[in-house]
Amino acid sequence: MKTYQLYIDGQFVDPVEGEWFDSVDPYRGEPWARIPRASKTDVDRAVAAAKRAMTEGPWAGMTASARGKVLRRIGDIVAREAQHLAEVETRDNGKLFAEMHGQTRYQPEWWYYFAGLADKIEGAQVPIDKPETFAFTTHEPVGVVGALTAWNSPLLFVAWKCAPALAAGCAVVIKPSEFASASTLEFAGLMKEAGLPDGMFNVVTGYGAETGAAIVDHPDVAKITFTGSDVTGARIYEQAAKQIKRVALELGGKSPNIVFADADLKMAAAGAISGIFAATGQTCIAGSRLLVQNSIREEFTARLIELAKSAKLGDPMDAGTNIGPITTPPQYQKVLDYIAVAKGEGARCVFGGGPATGEGVRGGQFVQPTIFADVTNSMRIAQEEVFGPVLSIIGFEDEAEALKLGNDVIYGLAAGVWTQDIGRAMRMSKGLKAGTVWVNTYRAVSYMMPFGGMKRSGLGRESGIESIREYLETKSVWISTSRDAPENPFVMR
Ligand code: NAD
Repeated sequence: MKTYQLYIDGQFVDPVEGEWFDSVDPYRGEPWARIPRASKTDVDRAVAAAKRAMTEGPWAGMTASARGKVLRRIGDIVAREAQHLAEVETRDNGKLFAEMHGQTRYQPEWWYYFAGLADKIEGAQVPIDKPETFAFTTHEPVGVVGALTAWNSPLLFVAWKCAPALAAGCAVVIKPSEFASASTLEFAGLMKEAGLPDGMFNVVTGYGAETGAAIVDHPDVAKITFTGSDVTGARIYEQAAKQIKRVALELGGKSPNIVFADADLKMAAAGAISGIFAATGQTCIAGSRLLVQNSIREEFTARLIELAKSAKLGDPMDAGTNIGPITTPPQYQKVLDYIAVAKGEGARCVFGGGPATGEGVRGGQFVQPTIFADVTNSMRIAQEEVFGPVLSIIGFEDEAEALKLGNDVIYGLAAGVWTQDIGRAMRMSKGLKAGTVWVNTYRAVSYMMPFGGMKRSGLGRESGIESIREYLETKSVWISTSRDAPENPFVMR
């Protein structure tokens, strides 16, 4: 068992109240690390260090280009450590090493991209409509950023949130999920080598309602950036509103993956399978509602069953494994409960439909890849986020119905469209109320492309140039060049 410490003001330190909790390896079902349980006092220390570092420390005096160089070095170090960081993530959250390693190898790109953006944060001179006046805008760091992240891709969220925050000049206090905290602490241990000044990046681990809530409530935290469930997101939004705190929310989804009869069905079937079974369905962008045109529904369902049969469940570290365990015990129970709900609602289970047992499946947290046919869009299985390997197939007649069903959900994170008709692709991508629409592909993300949700899937965008604005405030500066006092000081000039 490895015992971790908090990372505050550039030092690894014990939590003041001396409490730790276990992190469980979801594949083996055994505790493997001890994670500090940070109290409000620890959060206070971390926020004070962050405030000091961004206002008084070396970061404040550095040019934006010099800050960019630090971010570039972080990218280089993450590239070098990609294998180790991915191993830690797999140990902690049970997702496939192949997926986590793909992520950690790609993450340097966020650091490089925002390194380049650090010295391109420009204000503008405004050709103001007042005589003898010079006016311009500047963009300033919003203040200390509190980041709260989910367990499914901890270091990806570090890159998505902290690279633009640091590039904007903000210091960060981050609390990873209590189910997968280790990789964020391992990452923190690399910051000294990168030359990031102490206090600019702080990690306080612990439970959401304690440590997380203390970050949200702290008066010196100016902005909360959150990735997690919509229920927690709404709670945080409400809490932050009391202090008019800025909030960005990356929440859940129930994304429609829409297959038209004119699609390349081999590609569409592969896209449907990876859309729901990759990451064991534990991804916010899971294509969990598969809308299939009625004329090909039976044939397409048969194709999916054939592909699902080939899935190998097992050790997430093994390159031959396709589907790993469910990360947490409550999540495992939730997935099984939803399967029962779907059966009770009259959805026809055509594949899987229960806990997976047998060879290679340890720890007890495996669910069979599951496919429900004859789902109607009003069923709970079609409306609520399962966050597991459970696919609902819903039929539709034509484009209008596909659009109506696609949008008939409270979420709006992502959508997929499979068609060879470019006009239809354009009409569908325009009509779908989702932050991302993929046509003839699914689950693609890039540091260059804004990502975020419409409707109940969130507020704000991550990645891409516009995402840096999440961490900036605009200031308008007016300078009068006049030597004359106004004739009438009692009216506005
Ligand atoms: P969660 O909402 O349970 O927890 C997320 C984080 O919030 C954790 O760090 C948790 O400790 C913290 N938290 C919980 N209660 C809190 C409180 N009262 N105050 C402050 N912090 C609190 O989510 P999860 O189970 O870790 O993650 C799964 C969810 O995340 C799914 O709904 C999924 O769709 C969503 N998700 C969204 C994205 C996205 O980018 N849109 C990406 C991945 C996951």
